[in-house]
Amino acid sequence: MVKSWAEPYKIKMVEPIKMTTKEHRERAIAEAGHNTFLLRAEDVYIDLLTDSGTSAMSDYQWAGLMLGDEAYAGSRSFYNLVAAVREVYGYEELVPTHQGRGAEHILSQILIKPGDYVPGNMYFTTTRFHQEHAGGHFVDVIVDEAFDPYDLYPFKGNIDLEKLGALIAEVGADKIPYISVETNVNMAGGQPMSLANLEAVYDLCGEHGILVMLDATRALENAWFIKQREHGYEDWSVADILRKICSLSDGATVSSKKDNLVNIGGFLALRDPKLAEKARALLVAFEGLHTYGGMSGRDMEALARGIEEMAATDDHVRARTGQVEYLGNRLLKAGIPIVQPIGGHGIFLDAAAIMSHLPQDLFPAQALAAEIYVESGVRAMERGIVSAGRDPVSGDHHYPKLELVRLAIPRRVYTQAHMDVVAESIAAVYDNREQMAGLRFTYEPESLRFFQARFEPAT
Ligand SMILES: *Cc1c(COP(=O)(O)O)cnc(C)c1O
Repeated sequence: MVKSWAEPYKIKMVEPIKMTTKEHRERAIAEAGHNTFLLRAEDVYIDLLTDSGTSAMSDYQWAGLMLGDEAYAGSRSFYNLVAAVREVYGYEELVPTHQGRGAEHILSQILIKPGDYVPGNMYFTTTRFHQEHAGGHFVDVIVDEAFDPYDLYPFKGNIDLEKLGALIAEVGADKIPYISVETNVNMAGGQPMSLANLEAVYDLCGEHGILVMLDATRALENAWFIKQREHGYEDWSVADILRKICSLSDGATVSSKKDNLVNIGGFLALRDPKLAEKARALLVAFEGLHTYGGMSGRDMEALARGIEEMAATDDHVRARTGQVEYLGNRLLKAGIPIVQPIGGHGIFLDAAAIMSHLPQDLFPAQALAAEIYVESGVRAMERGIVSAGRDPVSGDHHYPKLELVRLAIPRRVYTQAHMDVVAESIAAVYDNREQMAGLRFTYEPESLRFFQARFEPAT
């Protein structure tokens, strides 16, 4: 019996990457204001900034690009996408968008009234932005285990039913249009929720007339962890678990740039045709006609095929999570503090522990990500106080409990040898950790500041 997670594909085409010197990288990071988002990709050796839109497509998907139907209205590729979403996720109504945040925007606008509350299992940057933009208050109801990077609880994405119950009692169900339930919680380190927890949430919300809206962007990876960890699902296919997850919700937003194996795209999926009508009315103003949203026909064709492919067997997600786990285990062996259990889409370094000599408002994770780049050309991303932004009312920083650097692994792109190089580079930075200085802002954008902020060393 084969135990290894080796890739269920072989490589047909390659893209050369540039090797750079340390002097070059020092100049590049200074020009980028010590923000890895502002680096030019061609100055990066191994790009673990994000697993969003960075997947390698299959020959079947590339072939789909040629077959895309570019009709303005009623494209065949749209109907192929509708069929794929119905088959794999089980939602009847499909509202295509340009990417995940397009779907979040539409959903927030049709359901949230100013003064409403939207509970969720940890915030996600764009999701919370759109909830607040619509006048809502985000309330975090994730389990406390999620805030402890070393707690080995297998379902750190779970919702704390007591926190949710307390919110309902405090503000009243009529002030809570829906709960936003994220599968494989990104900001917690790619941590799954259990089906038992989702069932309980769905029941509780059903009693109070509160809708359950999934952020199903990473639901496939969550389904894999359920198969590994939740009693009773060992023998289920990941595809069946995924459908069961979706069956416990009223709809979902999906960024197709993650699980779905495409470079751009997303959708809002709903059960209620009336709600879908409302969504489509906004869609035509903000995204595009209801049969393409923000996508070209070829994008929809590649997406329909990506959705089919990701769940056709368990082999893809097994190799995908296996590669992440391989890198995580190498770092653990080197004694580097990372969020555990190892999550679905990347490794999260505990910057607060690594840079324990720096206070959080000197942006330790931002500084660590910059240093990793200079050391080796590996690009990571801050997931800490800079990403958390400021409170819209008080103007103070949000001080998140987790101060992390994320190494997100693109799907089907890098090899095990690349992962070895990443592990060695991070070990080298770790050995020098006490030398690292913090950073301060030289430019701070008003919203979603982590994308474009600039910094200088704080001396
Ligand atoms: C990426 C992501 C989003 C936003 O999607 P975009 O396609 O980047 O707009 C929302 N939620 C989660 C969990 C994500 O990972």
